[in-house]
Amino acid sequence: DLEVINNAASGDSKQLKSDGVEMGGAWPGQAFSLQVDEVLFHEKSKYQDVLVFKSRTYGNVLVLDGIIQCTERDEAAYQEMLAHLPMFAHPNPKRVLIIGGGDGGILREVLKHPSVEHVTMCEIDEMVIDVSKKWLPKMAAEFGNPKLNLFIGDGFEFLKAHKNEFDVVITDSSDPVGPAESLFGKSYYQLLSDALRDGGILSSQGECPWLDGNLIHTMNVFCKEIFANVKYAIGSVPTYTSGTMGYFVCSQERDVTTPARTLTSEEVQKWGLRFYNSSLHSAAFVLPTFVQQALEGK
Ligand code: SAM
Repeated sequence: DLEVINNAASGDSKQLKSDGVEMGGAWPGQAFSLQVDEVLFHEKSKYQDVLVFKSRTYGNVLVLDGIIQCTERDEAAYQEMLAHLPMFAHPNPKRVLIIGGGDGGILREVLKHPSVEHVTMCEIDEMVIDVSKKWLPKMAAEFGNPKLNLFIGDGFEFLKAHKNEFDVVITDSSDPVGPAESLFGKSYYQLLSDALRDGGILSSQGECPWLDGNLIHTMNVFCKEIFANVKYAIGSVPTYTSGTMGYFVCSQERDVTTPARTLTSEEVQKWGLRFYNSSLHSAAFVLPTFVQQALEGK
């Protein structure tokens, strides 16, 4: 049997092994493994190693530079939290920007909000979009939506030309190794702040509080230098190493921890939500002590 493991250091076909699990990389001493039924696609793009495989238990899986990005079985946990925390904290989001997001899952969730008039998306790697359309069709379902304006390019460079434009900006990036490195620095958050309209809200994938304490602390400090409200939410995502994912949600003007609009349980069903609901919105910002300590650098 083949196994694929989450290992930031591999970045090439070393992640496919015939037996055993390779340790080390970004998370020394631990790894997460899934049994591979079939490799569906494996090529190097201009930016990264792109792999899609059919797993025994989690459906099709997208892997970039040796790190699992999403699986068909648990993608809702990540996409719904990253998209709906900022979207529901806003009373009337009309213009939305997604940086990264090449699998299409965040786009799918954002378009569920009837107030949305335009979604702009800037993804650096067209190959990710192409393989997602083919192998992850439930995530990539909305690439043909007429509200979408899709740019292929670097999100950092894109933001330099967009000021005071968006109600919500969502950064759905890979980890800060490779093409996403520039999306984890203070200058990127300054550009995000400039891109938001009055009352705007951003969300960004905030890595894992069990593993990335130093990064989370650094981000928390510089975000607080830029935004009046900087909050961190957590949720479970089984296929991210350690199983816990964090989300930064920031705004100058708004309290992001309380939804400005709520859904009834009938609406939750109608929207097809598997993870997010209005009670969870506020609960996700209630943090265990070790996460509070990580954010404060203790
Ligand atoms: N959910 C995943 C996770 O946290 O593991 C990430 C999803 S994946 C869709 C992230 C996307 O960000 C990839 O398609 C990658 O190509 C894109 N990306 C990385 N660096 C980027 C950059 N500088 N500008 C725009 N997109 C970028």
